[in-house]
Amino acid sequence: MRLEKVCDFLKTQPRYRDSGGQCQIRCWVCGDSGKNDKPGNMSIKIDVEPGEPMVYHCFRSACGASGFLRTEDLQTMGCTDIDTLMELSAWNREVNPRLEKKFHAKENRGYQLVNLAISDNLGKLKYINTRLGTSFEFQDLRNYKIQLGLYEFLRINRINRLAFAEDKCDLLDEYTIGFLSMYSDYLICRDITKKIVTGNRYTTYRIRGKAKEDDMKIYCIPGELDILDPNPVDINIAEGTFSILGAYLNTNLRKKQKNQIWLANCGSGYKTTLLHTSRQFGLLDVNLHIWSDSEIKIGKYERLMQDAKDHMHLNSVTVYYNGIAEDFGHSKNQIRVESVELK
Ligand SMILES: [Zn+2]
Repeated sequence: MRLEKVCDFLKTQPRYRDSGGQCQIRCWVCGDSGKNDKPGNMSIKIDVEPGEPMVYHCFRSACGASGFLRTEDLQTMGCTDIDTLMELSAWNREVNPRLEKKFHAKENRGYQLVNLAISDNLGKLKYINTRLGTSFEFQDLRNYKIQLGLYEFLRINRINRLAFAEDKCDLLDEYTIGFLSMYSDYLICRDITKKIVTGNRYTTYRIRGKAKEDDMKIYCIPGELDILDPNPVDINIAEGTFSILGAYLNTNLRKKQKNQIWLANCGSGYKTTLLHTSRQFGLLDVNLHIWSDSEIKIGKYERLMQDAKDHMHLNSVTVYYNGIAEDFGHSKNQIRVESVELK
């Protein structure tokens, strides 16, 4: 039998050939040599019996990599589809529970967002449009994983249990705008009142289940990332959700980047955001773009660069400041990009 999703993914690999019972692809360990039109040197057994691992071997003598196909191998090849990784993970656990001990699936949940034209929401939509100089309608917010009301969100997703006491949730519902986190396990609630009536600029709301120490509570603007693209990936990070949206929507830098990802720390810290994202998506060659708050000095980013260089290759590092405001969470006419090249 075959693991359908895993086999489908392998078909997307360079120099793929199905030779019945096994397939050949370009080796993810040595990268292969030779002509590009030949089948790859990496051979993987794809017809397997229950309890039998997917054995692989690279026939290039200089390499000779061999072993059992694991989820981390798929991730090295660029697989991020959680169902594919889960299929292999489940299979390998049947073979031997220790085979996959390192793999912790971050399941991506399919929550629905709903933004109704009711009184609270009208004010919140207006806040966003005024702040960013946009003309979003309610239905546009979904494209940015923005959820205006907490209670509407819980209701439509049939979630009955609240993560906090009811009076706190009342405040979040009324005074914050929600941003669905990278793995859709949190609603990052941004207080939009002048006095910060909820007590915190950001409150991370665990949507279901228990919070864990290493949960990632960062916001990512939805987009497409081609991990097989050989060019460095452009990682853009700002501290806040409005700041990254402003940088994304209201500057020209997006048009100059080919393969890009846009993130907001929301209090997590630049280092955590950068290292986690690179690890999760297997991004080793990176152009780093920091959309800084004005009060943060360049020295902080120099230290970040030092910390990151053991984990990835930073092809370039650029820090941007807004010359006429404290961050990039503004409309086009209130942004003047000033950049510092650190590398
Ligand atoms: Zn090889």
